[in-house]
Amino acid sequence: MNDLKPVSIPEDAPYVNALLLQMIRGVEEVLGENGLKAVLRISGLERYIDNLPENNLEKGVLAREYARLNAAVEEFTGRAGKGMLQRIGRASFRWGVKEQSAVMGLAGIALKALPQRIRKRAVLLGIRKGLMDVVDFGLVDVQDQDGVLVYTDYACVICHTRHSDHPICHLYIGSLGEAMVYATGKDYRDFEIVETHCRAKGDGFCRFEIRDRE
Ligand SMILES: [Zn+2]
Repeated sequence: MNDLKPVSIPEDAPYVNALLLQMIRGVEEVLGENGLKAVLRISGLERYIDNLPENNLEKGVLAREYARLNAAVEEFTGRAGKGMLQRIGRASFRWGVKEQSAVMGLAGIALKALPQRIRKRAVLLGIRKGLMDVVDFGLVDVQDQDGVLVYTDYACVICHTRHSDHPICHLYIGSLGEAMVYATGKDYRDFEIVETHCRAKGDGFCRFEIRDRE
């Protein structure tokens, strides 16, 4: 492991408009316009109905509201929630790459110039940089442990103020999967991604293991 410490995110910490917008775009693509309206209502974010957050780095939302929207997708889609959140994570990553490459930390990476075997790690390091640049309390670590990429978010916002007996950051799994697609040109199903630790169940961080499926 490493010597990074869990981050204590204040209950009412603010969060960045662009990152909320990214999730909303993903929800819209996967659940449609009416689905988006429904989950905005469920999560108490009616103010964004027909009035999307700006695509900027101002802090117009609370971290816990971002988390609440995530929870609302699960409430709205029931047993399909886990898969839906993964799809939303993939869709929002794709949208972010198109519309927010600087925020995503990917703008400066010349992937084609890199050998295939280090592209995945390079993309994860880009995401890390993007998050740590735009989120005040952001703290992410990326390690390659004998070919398993380990991505650890010490300040995960998806599960901020939420509690569960199992890991719940399914949206993150989707986004990391799409990041692997971005890095390699393969299909997201070619990767196995498991959330081994989650702040929602009392761990100090949300930790993901990323493996190539053989
Ligand atoms: Zn988590």
